[in-house]
Amino acid sequence: VKSQGRNALCFFDPQMQIAISQRAQLESDLQLALTGRQFVLHYQPQFHLDGRMVGAEALIRWRHPERGLLTPGHFIGVAEESELIVPMGHWVLRTACEQLAAWQGDARYRHVQLSVNVSARQFRQRDFVARVVEVLRETGARPHLLKLELTESLVLDNVDDTIAKMGLLKTKGVRFSVDDFGTGYSSLAYLTRLPLDQLKIDQSFVRNLGVKHTDDVIVQTIIGMARNLELDVIAEGVETQAQKDFLALHGCQFFQGYLMGRPMPVADLEAQLGTSSAA
Ligand code: C2E
Ligand code: CA
Ligand code: CA
Ligand code: CA
Repeated sequence: VKSQGRNALCFFDPQMQIAISQRAQLESDLQLALTGRQFVLHYQPQFHLDGRMVGAEALIRWRHPERGLLTPGHFIGVAEESELIVPMGHWVLRTACEQLAAWQGDARYRHVQLSVNVSARQFRQRDFVARVVEVLRETGARPHLLKLELTESLVLDNVDDTIAKMGLLKTKGVRFSVDDFGTGYSSLAYLTRLPLDQLKIDQSFVRNLGVKHTDDVIVQTIIGMARNLELDVIAEGVETQAQKDFLALHGCQFFQGYLMGRPMPVADLEAQLGTSSAA
């Protein structure tokens, strides 16, 4: 009887119990963060080949009261699995558009484009298009300065819904980039059906440029594809001059990565913009 009792204990995994309660805690903390204004956007600059800063990507951060500034890796997964990613995404979009509108009033920043990440769950909401239109109207942000980043897997998941929503927003002037490009199974056939502006080469390919021959080939292929489709192409995760040189040599026009600038608070980005446009 005693040994049976011990065996029964094996079904109770204390580690798993801790993980479950930590997760529930994180979920309720995220809810509080949303209402308590603990989220903030950081901005990572994007550059043209000629050295001009052309825009930035908005990246969410959580100013956690105890744990300090957290990157999305600590919470975006839980946010996505719960429904919280939807209101969080709305907050990101609104905050980004408010920032765009603020920049529009200043000659030094009025050309800055802002890329905003959209999660699958957020994009698939029935009222997604209406929401974006409403935010643009309420903030007064110019739609052509807003670039929505949709991941390749999102775009492919339900192509008809994707095309319908992108098409509507496109008529309003909103631009689109395919994030993490190269990680899915894109075919030229579907790419030509989407009203795209940009392909964003995933950083996993950039990381191994000059090291892994297959990645060199993939990157060259993506750049060639973008050219033939008359799309802009931007590389993310550019960390070394050698990576940037390789990309530039093969026709990539836009760059984002630690080599040029990390994600930073808005004031730092504005300071960098001030010096970059003067140069
Ligand atoms: P992502 O959209 O692919 O964003 C690029 C990530 O790479 C960012 O991480 C950025 O800080 C990082 N990064 C930029 N340059 C370099 C580099 O040179 N080297 C390396 N190693 N990394 C670089 P971050 O900010 O931690 O965001 C991670 C992911 O979280 C994003 O990946 C995106 O999928 C998601 N995310 C961030 N903000 C939002 C948001 O507002 N909404 C949604 N739905 N997702 C977001
Ligand atoms: Ca992105
Ligand atoms: Ca990406
Ligand atoms: Ca990514």
